[in-house]
Amino acid sequence: MEQRGGSDPKESGEVLDCIVIGAGPGGLQACIHLGRYNFRVLLFHRPGGRTWHAKHIENYLGCRSIPGPELLDTGLSQAESFGVAVERARVERVKTREGLFEVQAGGKTYLSRFVIAASGARESLAPLKNLPRFFGISYFTCMICDGYRTTGRKLLVMDRTINGVRLSLGMKQLFTSDVTFLAHGFTIPPNYAALLDEEGIGRVEGRPEELLGEETLEGVRLADGRVIPCEVILGWGGITLNDEYLEDLPLERDTEGFKIVTKGASESSIPGLFVLGALRQGHSQAIISAGQGAEAAIEISTRIVEL
Ligand SMILES: Cc1cc2nc3c(=O)[nH]c(=O)nc-3n(C[C@H](O)[C@H](O)[C@H](O)COP(=O)(O)OP(=O)(O)OC[C@H]3O[C@@H](n4cnc5c(N)ncnc54)[C@H](O)[C@@H]3O)c2cc1C
Repeated sequence: MEQRGGSDPKESGEVLDCIVIGAGPGGLQACIHLGRYNFRVLLFHRPGGRTWHAKHIENYLGCRSIPGPELLDTGLSQAESFGVAVERARVERVKTREGLFEVQAGGKTYLSRFVIAASGARESLAPLKNLPRFFGISYFTCMICDGYRTTGRKLLVMDRTINGVRLSLGMKQLFTSDVTFLAHGFTIPPNYAALLDEEGIGRVEGRPEELLGEETLEGVRLADGRVIPCEVILGWGGITLNDEYLEDLPLERDTEGFKIVTKGASESSIPGLFVLGALRQGHSQAIISAGQGAEAAIEISTRIVEL
């Protein structure tokens, strides 16, 4: 179906209804809803994103098990089928200008009435040899996403902070009795060590260097040569938001100055700028981002119709 106005949103120089940044579940779901209102919508994306790294998503309604890239490819073609224009370019800057948003990407400047920022985050991973071989298969970073896949298996929890103790206890309660905690770069305080001992959770301190195994994970080698056998690893190293392009905007952030505060249908403190997924406060899951995308799109539609 042709969009309202007919001309190509990438080339026309006209004010667009909405620019969406990021083709993860949040951005794509927003595009599908916006496209089905016949709005003039332009989606910017670049390769990668956290969903793209998910090898098997099993908690997304309607998909028994789907690789992240397949979910995204299907979503992208679905969005395009409803007339959303797609540009593979990194958004470099978003500014406000006379009640509109100015978006700079790929050496060009675009104007839009609304912007949806859905560019997610990137993982901070320990520099472990062979990590790409096992990432998302037996090396996991998210308990909500992949805790289930550790059920009944020999698990190593790795963390640079004391939070790893809590995570180890939770993993034992929910998924597997065979848990060891590797304190990466710090000494476990005695009271926490006693708690781990009481719960039958193994504990090690040291710097992990290499994941061992060819087809399947067999263990971790530490810098001092010790080997810790395991079948699965949960290693949280933190995330960095993909929000560099929002730097010029005085956005309200959480008390740590990290995640963007939103209200209502994921609208930020700047009216008309909606923020989804890992960029905003709240749990980050594919289906949650998609729901936020749908809600933001519907809210935008009501405002465009009122104008
Ligand atoms: C290994 C792994 C397994 C996971 N498993 C699950 C699971 O089983 N179930 C689940 O619900 N969740 C899972 N997740 C989490 C899930 O991927 C995130 O919650 C989800 O990515 C949030 O979606 P999003 O749309 O906010 O962002 P993302 O999926 O991260 O998408 C962001 C998009 O924005 C693009 N982008 C970034 N910066 C820019 C820019 N400047 N300009 C243009 N485009 C940009 C990226 O390239 C990407 O296309 C997993 C994550 C990982 C890493």
